[in-house]
Amino acid sequence: MATPHDEVLAAQEAHLRGLDDADERTIFDKIVAKEIPATILYEDALAMAFRDVNPQAKTHFLVIPKIRAGLTRLSKATEEHKTLLGHLMYTASVVAKQENLDAGYRCVINDGVEGCQSVYHLHVHVIGGQQLSWPPG
Ligand code: C5P
Repeated sequence: MATPHDEVLAAQEAHLRGLDDADERTIFDKIVAKEIPATILYEDALAMAFRDVNPQAKTHFLVIPKIRAGLTRLSKATEEHKTLLGHLMYTASVVAKQENLDAGYRCVINDGVEGCQSVYHLHVHVIGGQQLSWPPG
């Protein structure tokens, strides 16, 4: 039986589908659909976290919206994405705990060419498991 929480998630998912791009599917859509493999750390109705295939630190995972919903990049965010963006950040913190990143970690969102974004499906990088330096390049 669906709980009120499930109903909120279902309504949100339906709403986000309506916002989705007609753009081509990204490699992350294929990971969500389990058409290509990934080491999945967490999944719920709206978000998925999986290990980055090219880790930049001892621990490096990505948190993505399961439905891109127009969010090819952070700079495309609108008022309607606020709840989803909050959900992604909260998910990053939940998975960081699960990964025992108790001493700290970094969350990064690369946006566009100057931000070195390569996959146009919004994702939060979570990097940690070792001492990081600052500033990034
Ligand atoms: O921020 P940016 O778009 O450059 O990050 C994309 C990330 O997606 C890269 O860190 C890359 O290693 C990762 N990736 C992945 N699995 C894939 C393709 C890309 O983890 N199949």
